[in-house]
Amino acid sequence: MRMAEQQSFDVETDVVVIGYGYAGAATAITAHDAGAEVVILEKMAQPGGNSRVSGGNCVIPRDSDEAVRGFTDYLDRLCFGTTPRPVLEALVTEARSLVKWAADLGGDLHIPEQLIVSGTYPRTIKGPGFPKVPGGSGNFDKYCIRGDADVPPSLRLWNLLSRNVAERSVQVRLGTAARDLLTDASGGVVGVVATAGGRQITIGARKGVVLTCGGFENDPELKWDYAPPKPLKFAGNPGNTGDGIRMAQRVGADLWHMTRTSTIVGFQAPEFEAAFGIFFPSDGFIYTDRAGNRYVDETGIELHEFYRVFSHFDAENVEFPRIPSWAIFNEQTRLAGPLTWNTSGYNRDLYRWSPDNAAEVERGWIVEAGSVEELAERLDMDASVVTATLTRYNAACADGQDTEFGRSAATLKPLAPPFYAIPLHPVVLNTQGGARRDEQGRVIGTDGNPIPRLFSAGEFGSVWGYLYQGASNITECLVFGRIAGANAASTVNV
Ligand SMILES: Cc1cc2nc3c(=O)[nH]c(=O)nc-3n(C[C@H](O)[C@H](O)[C@H](O)COP(=O)(O)OP(=O)(O)OC[C@H]3O[C@@H](n4cnc5c(N)ncnc54)[C@H](O)[C@@H]3O)c2cc1C
Repeated sequence: MRMAEQQSFDVETDVVVIGYGYAGAATAITAHDAGAEVVILEKMAQPGGNSRVSGGNCVIPRDSDEAVRGFTDYLDRLCFGTTPRPVLEALVTEARSLVKWAADLGGDLHIPEQLIVSGTYPRTIKGPGFPKVPGGSGNFDKYCIRGDADVPPSLRLWNLLSRNVAERSVQVRLGTAARDLLTDASGGVVGVVATAGGRQITIGARKGVVLTCGGFENDPELKWDYAPPKPLKFAGNPGNTGDGIRMAQRVGADLWHMTRTSTIVGFQAPEFEAAFGIFFPSDGFIYTDRAGNRYVDETGIELHEFYRVFSHFDAENVEFPRIPSWAIFNEQTRLAGPLTWNTSGYNRDLYRWSPDNAAEVERGWIVEAGSVEELAERLDMDASVVTATLTRYNAACADGQDTEFGRSAATLKPLAPPFYAIPLHPVVLNTQGGARRDEQGRVIGTDGNPIPRLFSAGEFGSVWGYLYQGASNITECLVFGRIAGANAASTVNV
């Protein structure tokens, strides 16, 4: 924290928004429309953050009080009762107006026939992530912006929001990283210190500052301290390095949900900074640990909760035996489709994965082996372990019963040469932790009181207390962006 020494700033405005993804865009649009002058600071040369490369899906409750209540109950249960009910109510209630809001901006939020985000496995995410939890079924649907099939849904939503930002007199400062929050003598936030092109600037905020600067997916120190599996790779924006957490801490913010992440399985290609999410388009595959042992029903894990499986630690040998894991798959699976989405992830615009995975075999990313012995040698495993694993798995396929891990009979497809294998890491889509927020989008201090004129939205300090319902981070960006934008623009909080 720094006290604002000067009365004058290099730039002055009503509302400063730190970070230009969906949450920053929703905040800026709303604050502007409520009459505020708005400046957005974005540290990267290109805006969009995780949002622009996401799956672009959001959840919206069905249009009845019963559905709203049921969905809120469900979220309450996913949070194990630890996120204040008014915060969850704000999320669900306000989400009801998103279709109309998008229409007002010129977009059509609709329920797509097919969600583009997922392959066949991990478990597809059309419905509730946790169907056995009461309230999950029948109370909400997944939406995305309608548009040209060649344009990924996340880009459609980004184009809609960024166009609306551009149409308003919102100043967007790219390549400008916020470094610190400026406060007055009473501890209220009055501005931001930022750097741009090696130069420091101060931006005064007459009404408020909104932190929409994402999580810490690409900050090794914070990940080491808070994220259970190690190492944890990332699939999204390299600029999400937890800056907001440190800034908020310096003005006395309380933190929450720091150990919560949305983590899938993925492949880290040495040539790329971000990892690829890996999905299996067909049933003929298994996962093994580093030694070659299966450890889970590969088809049954909820997509975003893989960190729990990867985090298993062997205290005797002092290692994470499942990092990296290996996926071993058969020819039919290799030919069934690309192992990654080509529609989302930071690598989406950098590399096109081949439809039959042949280019990735050629690159050496996918290992090919003509026999169990060759497979074991290439994966640096004991051949007897790999043989035993494949023998047991193939026997389960023949019996139609996986007595070890309970994988369903319909998905048990035998593995025979040629074998293919790809190393898998836990790959975080986004972290959920950050500053604690209330239902008005205000950042809460360690004393339990709102920090004057400091707000937040999006994945920075999101509501997820334990389990995460897929496609809700974007809902949270839009809903809390609108709440924080409106409240920051309102003189009530000055
Ligand atoms: C591959 C992938 C698929 C996903 N699919 C879905 C999905 O379908 N549905 C869903 O709900 N969620 C999904 N998510 C998660 C979701 O995309 C994010 O949680 C959400 O988009 C976060 O939006 P945000 O605006 O909070 O942050 P971001 O979009 O990440 O924006 C934060 C911005 O702040 C900037 N920034 C950081 N520090 C500073 C600083 N000091 N100064 C200035 N700027 C700064 C960053 O560069 C970034 O541009 C997915 C994520 C990924 C990676």
